[in-house]
Amino acid sequence: MSTFDAVVIGGGPAGLTAALYLLRSQVRTALVEKLAPGGQMLKTERIENYPGFPDGILGYELSELMNAHVERWRTPDFTRINDDVRQLIPGGRSHRLLVGGEWIETKTIMICAGSSYRKLGIPGEVELTGKGVSYCALCDGNFFRGQSVAVIGGGNAALEEALYLTRLVDRLYLIHRRDEFRGARCYQDKCFIHPKMTVLRSTVAERVVGRDAVTGLSVRNVKTGEERVLDVQGVFVFVGFVPGADFLPIEIERDAQDFVLTDQEMQTSVPGIFAAGDIRGKLTRQVASAVGDAAVAASSALRYLETYEPA
Ligand SMILES: Cc1cc2nc3c(=O)[nH]c(=O)nc-3n(C[C@H](O)[C@H](O)[C@H](O)COP(=O)(O)OP(=O)(O)OC[C@H]3O[C@@H](n4cnc5c(N)ncnc54)[C@H](O)[C@@H]3O)c2cc1C
Repeated sequence: MSTFDAVVIGGGPAGLTAALYLLRSQVRTALVEKLAPGGQMLKTERIENYPGFPDGILGYELSELMNAHVERWRTPDFTRINDDVRQLIPGGRSHRLLVGGEWIETKTIMICAGSSYRKLGIPGEVELTGKGVSYCALCDGNFFRGQSVAVIGGGNAALEEALYLTRLVDRLYLIHRRDEFRGARCYQDKCFIHPKMTVLRSTVAERVVGRDAVTGLSVRNVKTGEERVLDVQGVFVFVGFVPGADFLPIEIERDAQDFVLTDQEMQTSVPGIFAAGDIRGKLTRQVASAVGDAAVAASSALRYLETYEPA
């Protein structure tokens, strides 16, 4: 069984930052990423609020820069594993992880597995995913050039993605179940005056219509009860996130939504296991906060390793 001093689970901004800090301190580290380095940044067109880039930076460019920064500090002991962590068994002095089909052992773990899109749970959504229902404007927006789409959600992701889609589509319905949007004022202002956008407040999506492809979206105004079917070919859903916590054992405490609980030093309920980024139970889920969490988590892990005594 391969053994490490630290294993970082996830190669998004949190995981890449944690790896950078650990490598600069010459810790024998494995970085496990099931897809590609960058995490959700790869699904973001332009990031305008990460300090140091006054003109904004494309999500994939920031991913490449963060990954190159890790490579710059590569040590002979550094291992990248391109697979998914399926199980975590906490132990007293060391912990075991099932990665792909193999077990590895480590003194500390950084859980940086982020989150994925929450589904609406309405009829037609699952059946028509990939056939008009999407959770990523950057990935799928091009399929809807010159067409009509609906964007569902009221937070930053929904507003940002809606604005991006207006460059491609002819008409866009922005649908939110409440009157007030949660997204940043600057995005709201741009959306509400956009000539291609129709904003439907207090409105819920009830059914995605279509057999082999989306042909409409059935919606209902929750105040008036009025129902209508929007003539759209695409439905983009941005209604929040669920943590990537499936592989975590009950020993690692979570909140009611399954996000991992930590103290201020990013320590979870299990000594030696830390968490950083979007997988944590917290209010703000951004690149800057993921990076900040990870700097703290890795520093805490370094302190933990300094006092580590083998059994
Ligand atoms: C559309 C969109 C727009 C956004 N725009 C902005 C913005 O403008 N500014 C901003 O600051 N933030 C933005 N964000 C949010 C930002 O991208 C996230 O807050 C940030 O990426 C979180 O970083 P993370 O490292 O915690 O998690 P993630 O970026 O989610 O990375 C987690 C990584 O872990 C991997 N992983 C998960 N489970 C496992 C497993 N079991 N085994 C191995 N690997 C695993 C995943 O493949 C992923 O690569 C946006 C997000 C989205 C979706």
